[in-house]
Amino acid sequence: MMQAMQDAKMGDDVYGEDPTVNQLQLKVARITGHEDALFFPSGTQSNLVALLTHCKRADEYIVAQTAHTYKYEGGGAAALGGIQPQPMERNSDGTLDLEHIEKLIKADDFHFAKTRLVALENTTTDGMAISASYCQKVRQLCDRNRLALHLDGARVFNAAAKLNVDVMELTKHFDSVSVCLSKGLGAPVGSVLSGSHEFVSSARRWRKVVGGGMRQAGIIAAAGIYALDHNVSRLSEDHSNAEYLANRLSEFDDISIEFGGACTNMVFLRLKSTNHDEFASFAESKGVLFTGRNPIRMVTHKDLAKSDIDLAVERLGAYFG
Ligand SMILES: *Cc1c(COP(=O)(O)O)cnc(C)c1O
Repeated sequence: MMQAMQDAKMGDDVYGEDPTVNQLQLKVARITGHEDALFFPSGTQSNLVALLTHCKRADEYIVAQTAHTYKYEGGGAAALGGIQPQPMERNSDGTLDLEHIEKLIKADDFHFAKTRLVALENTTTDGMAISASYCQKVRQLCDRNRLALHLDGARVFNAAAKLNVDVMELTKHFDSVSVCLSKGLGAPVGSVLSGSHEFVSSARRWRKVVGGGMRQAGIIAAAGIYALDHNVSRLSEDHSNAEYLANRLSEFDDISIEFGGACTNMVFLRLKSTNHDEFASFAESKGVLFTGRNPIRMVTHKDLAKSDIDLAVERLGAYFG
C-alpha cells in the first residue's frame, strides 16, 4: 500500500485533475452500481454531504436511534444543514420496521418538517449485516412515498462478505452510498460517496462548502485503490476470527457474549460480576484494547491473526486466574 501511494500519479482534484482520485471514484461507482462517485477524507463528511445533498433546511430524514449518521456524527446535519432527524428504534436484527417507518413519514402539512429521506446502514454500527431483500423492501417503501434512500455503507464490504453476495446486491437499491476505505479495508483515511451524475455533481458543491475539496489527493486515493484490490476478499477472515474470539471468551464464567448470527467483525461481551474499570486497566496493561462498557466491544481486523486472538484470550484469562 505504501508503495502504491509512493507511485501515485497526482493532479489537482479540486479541478477534477487527479488521475488517481478519478480512478478510485470510477472504481467505486462500478462496484456500487452507480453512475459516479466522489472521494472524501472521512466517512462522517461523506455522510454529512449525502444528507446536505438530499435534504434542504427543515427537511427530515428517518434513521435508527443508534445509527452513525444520527448518533455519532456530532449532529452535523442539524448544525450545518438545518436538517431534522426523525430517529426510531431498531429491531433486534438491525433492521427498521417497515410499518413503523411508514407511520413516521409526515403528511404534507405546514406544521411538519418535510420527510425526504430514509438513511440505513450496513453493517450497522454494531456489526450486523442487513440482507439485500430487506434493502429492496425499503426501496419500494421509499418509491411509494417519494423518499430518497441513503446507505451508510461504511462497512458494506463486511456485510457482503458475511451474506456471501456481490456488494452491488446490497448497494443498488440506494440513491447514494457511502463506503469507508479505512477501518476494515486498511487504508489510512478516506471514504467514497456514490450516486447518479446529478447527485454527485450537487454533492461536489457541498463537499467544497464543508472544506472537503482536496488538492493532490491521489496519494491517499492510491491507498484506497490498493485496499479495494487487496483487502476486500480477506474480510471473512476477520469474521471467523471474531467468531473464534467469541467462542474462546465464552470459556470464562464471568463473561457473557452477545454475538448474534448476523455479526461480522465485532464481539460484544458483558462482565457478570467483574469490576469493569479494574478489568479494563488490567487488559490495557497486557496490551489488549477494547472500547465500550457493558457491553465491551472488541473488533478484529487485518493486522490480527488467529494466534493474536489466542494470545489476547490467554492474557485476559490471567485476570480470572
Ligand atoms: C466509522 C463509521 C463512519 C464514519 O467514518 P469516519 O471516517 O470515521 O468519519 C460512518 N458510519 C459508520 C457506520 C461507521 O462505522
